[in-house]
Amino acid sequence: MAITGGCLCRAVRYSIDAAPIITRTCWCRVCQYIGAGSATVNSCFPSAALTVHGELRDYSLTADSGNVAHRRFCPTCGTHLFSASEARPHLVFVRAGTLDDPELARPAMTIWTASAPSWACFDERLPQVQRQPPPAA
Ligand SMILES: [Zn+2]
Ligand SMILES: [Zn+2]
Repeated sequence: MAITGGCLCRAVRYSIDAAPIITRTCWCRVCQYIGAGSATVNSCFPSAALTVHGELRDYSLTADSGNVAHRRFCPTCGTHLFSASEARPHLVFVRAGTLDDPELARPAMTIWTASAPSWACFDERLPQVQRQPPPAA
């Protein structure tokens, strides 16, 4: 059964014919902008399994990892849906809040904790990586 999701205004909808490879909570500095001050939760999927309907805008910049990352969002409502690194084009990271069922996206790791503010709350049950983790796949 496909995993489905979309943006807040529903102009963008997607489906994914694969299970998530891993879900991670990311406190990198860029994610703090996207997450309104908090971390983002991102589920990694094979990019070939993703089908998108609707217009996306793409903002690319060099991430803290040193790789060029593309962040795609709905130009109407501004919801961030996907990120992908040019270094690993076979993977796409889906912003977990856009999943129709966010229960599918239980995080297994907290990453970029070195960039988090002192008041950040980490889930003590999860392994933490101070900066860039090893590739998801
Ligand atoms: Zn939208
Ligand atoms: Zn991040």
